Amino acid sequence: MSAFLSLENIYKTYPGQDGLVLADVNLTLAKGEIVALLGASGSGKTTLLKIVSGLESQDKGRVVLDGKILDGLPPEKRSTAMVFQKSLLFRHLTVAENINFAPRLNRAFERAELRARTSAMLELLHLEGYGRKRVTELSGGQEQRVSLGRALMTEPSLLLLDEPLSALDINLKWALLMEIRELNVRLGQTMLYVTHDQKEAAAVANRVAFLDGGRLARVARPHEFYSRPLSLAEAKFFGWENFIPCSLENGRLRSAMGEYALPGLALGAYRPGEGYYMCIRPEAAKNVGSGAWSGVVKSALPQGLGTLCEIECRGETLKLVLPARFVHHPGESVSFDLDPELFWVVPS
Ligand code: ADP
Repeated sequence: MSAFLSLENIYKTYPGQDGLVLADVNLTLAKGEIVALLGASGSGKTTLLKIVSGLESQDKGRVVLDGKILDGLPPEKRSTAMVFQKSLLFRHLTVAENINFAPRLNRAFERAELRARTSAMLELLHLEGYGRKRVTELSGGQEQRVSLGRALMTEPSLLLLDEPLSALDINLKWALLMEIRELNVRLGQTMLYVTHDQKEAAAVANRVAFLDGGRLARVARPHEFYSRPLSLAEAKFFGWENFIPCSLENGRLRSAMGEYALPGLALGAYRPGEGYYMCIRPEAAKNVGSGAWSGVVKSALPQGLGTLCEIECRGETLKLVLPARFVHHPGESVSFDLDPELFWVVPS
């Protein structure tokens, strides 16, 4: 993969802050790729995005975009554009005037050309007929489409998105995520997309870059984080539950719950004598009512089609989702099997 954007050994501290906000971050993006920068609040996502855009400068390291070193260049000379969570549209201008603000100011095009490009952008963003409206007349979703349009009108080499859909309700969010993917395909637009929501990252991105406390812990395809987390932090972030201390002995995992040979697990990657956690996804329960495992329901929280239950089982409390069609009450005994595909082991 040839790098279109390359972040090399980026370090950052803020005055008055203890420790590094970013430590030795290395990341490359291919042309036309969407990479999601994912991490908990405070992990350094926005800081990294600002370093790429020129709104912040790094203490050490380089940012290279399309063969050009960006360090020291002001934001407007970087061929990047940014979309924020909160739209920064001009309230006194129309939708069209917001969208074509930058090329109008720079007199980049003749009037007819500007008008044609603005119409094409309105159409691309499903905003036909909205050009003359004031932005104050728009819904939240439409406002973010206009923000996208304003950024894309500058034809940036790289589009930077900082939690652009966080303020939207869930249905609108999914609709706009699909639209952002479509824009990526139709325009071949390279994008770096910041979010703290793993589902959003998995939905929008070709690859996910997981920031953990200012360090880039892993860059991989979204499903790899879900099926094969490499650390406890990653497992927790991607929806794994039930972290049971275990060790590897004679090719089997031994824990307080018993001994297991887990099919599908490359045990070669694990070393005898070291500590691990066996992780079990909450969706792992199957054959409910007839399985070989049994336990007592401690709590039951309905979640639509499933009920999230805490089940006391072999000396541990397991969090598992059981089908809601069997009503489960605290105190009730329940039997089930656990899908071995939804077991995983990480170092402790
Ligand atoms: P994220 O986007 O992942 O939530 P940020 O990049 O915003 O993380 O912040 C990373 C860390 O840097 C946090 O501890 C935050 O408090 C600190 N930080 C961010 N901006 C500044 C600033 N301008 N001055 C001092 N500390 C900052």
